[in-house]
Formats: sequence, structure tokens, C-alpha cells
Amino acid sequence: MKIPYLDLSVNDVQLKKELLDAVNTVLTHGRIILGPEVEELEQKLAAYCNRRFAVGMNSCTDALYLTLRAFNIGEGDEVITTPLSWIATTNAIVLTGAKPVYVDIGNDLNINAKFIEEAITENTRAIIPVHFTGTICDMESINSLAEDNDLVVIEDAAQAFGSRMHGKPAGSFGNAACFSMNPMKVLNAYGEAGAVVVDDQNIYDKLCSLRYAGTINKEDCHYPSLNGRIDTIQASMLLVSLNHLEEKIQRRKEIAKFYSSQLSEVITCPTVDLSMDHSYYSYTILCINREKMKGYLNEKGIETKIQHPILMPHHTAYKNNYKSQIPNAERIVNQILCLPNHENLIDSELNYITDCIRNFGNA
Ligand SMILES: *Cc1c(COP(=O)(O)O)cnc(C)c1O
Repeated sequence: MKIPYLDLSVNDVQLKKELLDAVNTVLTHGRIILGPEVEELEQKLAAYCNRRFAVGMNSCTDALYLTLRAFNIGEGDEVITTPLSWIATTNAIVLTGAKPVYVDIGNDLNINAKFIEEAITENTRAIIPVHFTGTICDMESINSLAEDNDLVVIEDAAQAFGSRMHGKPAGSFGNAACFSMNPMKVLNAYGEAGAVVVDDQNIYDKLCSLRYAGTINKEDCHYPSLNGRIDTIQASMLLVSLNHLEEKIQRRKEIAKFYSSQLSEVITCPTVDLSMDHSYYSYTILCINREKMKGYLNEKGIETKIQHPILMPHHTAYKNNYKSQIPNAERIVNQILCLPNHENLIDSELNYITDCIRNFGNA
């Protein structure tokens, strides 16, 4: 058996037809840049996240960078975040001129709110909690620390679209939240795409300006910026993805439940708080002999992923720059392993995967 971690080809005939019809509509009306599908998508994303506004971007990386800029965060400022994320989180902070400050993680793989307070200095301006694997961070504690210390909270919700905590969606907690809809993510485009959701009218206006060269009325540049607009074609395909989102999340939940029921005695399965409704961007296990397990599964035809193998402060670009006390993250990063958990997996494949993992101990 060969089981890829993720297969991005579209084999479902009906889905393919819906996607091609969506693209066909855009090609026919010809409003290729910021067309009506972008507006429709933005309205739907905002509504989904209980927000007033959404701004479509061409990636979550741009969304994070431009959101920091919208809050005037830059040179001389410090931004507190987790060490365990895709490097885009750090890149966005560093590109504004601000300094990332890393706080250790807990067993849920997310930033540990207990350690945030001691990392706050007179230069701290913002916290970027990352909802890693789709698990929502302890937003109650984070928001209360932010309120006490007058800090901006920007959720990096790239991995968490569709997750809920006490019924509240990821993206509804901070001053703003950034999503990725790249093809790996649960709500997926068929190319690069991202978005910011926000309630504040001034921040919304500034984001709209920043995503198009910092211009007002598309002509006069007020703030040096990038071109971060989302494509209408991606927006049109995302509207199709959005229609199929709930069934997709349901299947991912079923898969996670099956894995946890079969594997909790042999490996460390994700701990999911009862208040969490998880959309399972990834099903990430912890195992002490991770490299052996990965190699064994690979021999059995099962592709797994390590998301992410290098802590952000340890990347070559950053490793001499930022001192941090992150012993939990340094231990856990050597144990994480993501099992295939995409919605197209069939039951016989899931049985095969769990059989192999259970047999690993005797191999
Ligand atoms: C995917 C991801 C990003 C970057 O998203 P892009 O749309 O690929 O730029 C940022 N943060 C996290 C946590 C991610 O998983």
C-alpha cells in the first residue's frame, strides 16, 4: 500500500466540475483583480469568524506582515510569539523591523500563557499566538495579559480555520487574525491565498491600503508597501472549498477519533480539551523514537511529515540573534510527527496505518 501524506490532485468529478465552473465564470466576467468573488469571499470569511471585516491577501505571510504594519509595529518594538511555528510567523515580525521574543510551549504544542508575563518589557507591543495544528491557544489568559499591558493580539490562525473553543471560532479572539488558504490548509485554495479578519474600521481601511502598494484610492501611496492582493480566481475556487468545508472537517474529526482510539496506548496522541472543536489541520503525535518510527512507516509505504522540524529561533537566518529559554519546545520538536489525516483517506488505509504503528513496537 502507498499512502501519501496529502494528495492535491482533484479526482472527485463533481468537485472538479464546480471548480472549473467557478474559474469559467471569472474568465467570462473578466474582473480578474479584486472581482466580485473576492468581495463575496471576504463577507463569508468575516461572517464565519464573527468579525465585521475580512481582507483577502495573497498569503498568510503577507497577511501577518501587513497586519503588524497596520498596527504600526516596527523598529524598536518587541513581539511575543511561540518558537514552534512555520517560519513565516518570525519572518513577518522581523520584516517590520520588530524583534521576536520566544516564549516556551506547553504539552498542547501552543505558547504557554504562564510564561508570557515574564517576557513582557517596556518595548513589548504585541503577542502573536499561533494555533498550532489547529488547536486554539489559551486565548482567555492571553487576552487578559494583553489588556493589562496594553498589547495588540494578532492570532496566527493559519492552521486553525474551522476550529472552535467554547463555540467561538479561531480568528474571533484577538484584535485581528490571519489565515492561510494555501493548498495544504483545511480551507484550501488552488494556489497561494490568505486573509485577515478584524473588527476595527481604521485597521480594516489601512489593510486595504497596505495590500495595494500602500495607496489610497489606488493612486496616491501613503505607506511604502507590497502588492498583497488575493486573485479573483483563487477567491472563486475558495468559495467552492468553503461549500465543502463542513463535510471535510467532519471526516477529519472521524479520522482523528479513530487514530486516538487505536493508538493512545502505543504513542502520545494529541490532547484535545473538551471545550475544543478541532478542525485537524494536522494529527500530530509525539514519539520518543521519532526518526525510527518515520523510517519504519516510510518502508511500509506511509508518508508522514514533521511540522515543523526546526524551531523558528534555530533557523540559519536567526540562530545567533535571539536568546530564548525554550526547553519544552526543544524537547518536543524532536518528537512531533504528523500522520496522514486528509479527508480522502479510506477506512482500509486508516486500519493499515494504525496496524503498522501498533506493530512498530515489535518490529
Ligand atoms: C502556513 C502557515 C503560514 C503561512 O501561510 P502562507 O499562506 O503559506 O504564507 C503562517 N503561519 C503558520 C502557522 C502556517 O502554518
